[in-house]
Amino acid sequence: MEKHDSEMASSPDPDRDDLIADELPTDVDRRTFLMRSAVVGAAAVLTGREVSAEEQKAKASTEAKARKLSTEMSPSLEVVKKAKGPVMTTLEEFYKVGPGPSSSHTIGPMRITYDFYQRCTKLPPDKLAKATAFKVHLFGSLSSTGKGHGTERAALAGIIGKEPATVEPEFLDGLMTKPDQTFPVELGGKKLNVSLADIVYDAPNGKFPHPNTMTCKLMAGNTVLHELEYYSVGGGFIEWKGYQPPKKGAPKYPYATMAELKGHAEKNKLSIAQVAMANEIAVSGKSKQEIEAFIDKITTAMVNIVNAGLKAPAATLPGPIKLKTKAGDVYTRANDDKYEKQRGVGLVAAFALAGSEENARGHLVVTAPTGGSAGVMPALVYAVGESGRKLPQEKIRNGMLSAAAVGYLCKHNATLSGAEGGCQAEIGVASAMGAAFLAEAHDFPPQVVANAAESSLEHHLGMTCDPVAGYVQIPCIERCAFGAVKAWTGFMIASNEIPANRRVDFDTTVTAMALTAKEMNSKYKETSEGGLAVSLTLC
Ligand code: SF4
Repeated sequence: MEKHDSEMASSPDPDRDDLIADELPTDVDRRTFLMRSAVVGAAAVLTGREVSAEEQKAKASTEAKARKLSTEMSPSLEVVKKAKGPVMTTLEEFYKVGPGPSSSHTIGPMRITYDFYQRCTKLPPDKLAKATAFKVHLFGSLSSTGKGHGTERAALAGIIGKEPATVEPEFLDGLMTKPDQTFPVELGGKKLNVSLADIVYDAPNGKFPHPNTMTCKLMAGNTVLHELEYYSVGGGFIEWKGYQPPKKGAPKYPYATMAELKGHAEKNKLSIAQVAMANEIAVSGKSKQEIEAFIDKITTAMVNIVNAGLKAPAATLPGPIKLKTKAGDVYTRANDDKYEKQRGVGLVAAFALAGSEENARGHLVVTAPTGGSAGVMPALVYAVGESGRKLPQEKIRNGMLSAAAVGYLCKHNATLSGAEGGCQAEIGVASAMGAAFLAEAHDFPPQVVANAAESSLEHHLGMTCDPVAGYVQIPCIERCAFGAVKAWTGFMIASNEIPANRRVDFDTTVTAMALTAKEMNSKYKETSEGGLAVSLTLC
């Protein structure tokens, strides 16, 4: 960066020198401003049009502001406000089943359009009688990388009334192979025809309350009958304009940091999982049995997803990358590895590849915490469960509770969204959750659980999100394998070191992730404008 600046300062171009010597416009990041300025200048050279330094500065400033705004969030969003009180997230909000490949770009949008569809079914009959069409508009990151994620297919499935947790993979596959299909939707006594043409990729840049903003409209010709603005705020969570969070009970052990969570556990001689279960009962109002049944449903889905990915025949994944699947090959060859320890690493990697490839196929995944990271936790659940180490389900449930607590804290104090924080917020958090899962499932005390999560998150700090061609394939699929193996590494270090000697605590690392997310250039936040997304040439 310094070299770049000094090179520019010695530029023979006097206009450019003026531009750089001038004070930067307010609200504009210096690097973004200089880069946009260079682009404006280059465009002028290419088109042969003369551009004055003032004109260049004004245009660069406008573009830099637009780019900067595209990753900002409105302080009125619940996801922003919530960071101030204790953690109130529940398991059912956190672990969600839905279509891959991205919690923010497919599960969130599908939950949004399904929500809008349900609202529309409750409109007065006289209003419904006038309805002629649905229109869904995608903005910001949903617009810039939505095509690669299949956002339009997920949004269409929701608006025609398909539920995210039960949508058949074949239905979504069918939309890919036959995109011109039209689907009749019954609203009251009215029948509307809906197709992919009703899902509009709108402005990628602009001032939106959240980088993943959508509007859903029920139309009567050119008149809007009913409209709502929504936000896919990461991890499959959704909000809308005027959103009020559901009423919940007060947590038995309120915490907003790992230090507070660990404090409750140590003071009351409980494990992290026991504190998490007590809070889950208090906040959700559900019984212990209901909560355990939900966890079992999620771990069964994870095992099924890995099994499906391992058994799927080798194929080419959808999209322009033409990426070949590899989970089955890695699994078979790792099983035959003559070195036992190497076999372990190979198998965990194969399980994660299997889960992530299912996500890339657009099949069902579990957000843990997101779709992009959907191979990490299933790989670990599979490895220690019935298909591997055979830990009892009770230990696996405990692990899932601790993993969720780690994910809640990352969401509460930083972010789970690649569009807000880069890949550290997705694979990094999944890996931290995985390390906590392993430590808790093997009965380690709270300090080791926290240290394992810290270690795994620390070594993902700064990781950018740069999906090639906007598809959750490169680097995402192999990154899940690394996230799972790094989770195991974090667990091994934390469970073998002297716990009190760890110099960095989990909260410090989450703060570092939040800070890094804030300062990360928007090119590396799921916009496919930087890193591998622009370095890899597809042919
Ligand atoms: S690079 Fe990471 S954060 Fe970005 S889409 Fe892939 S898995 Fe998600």
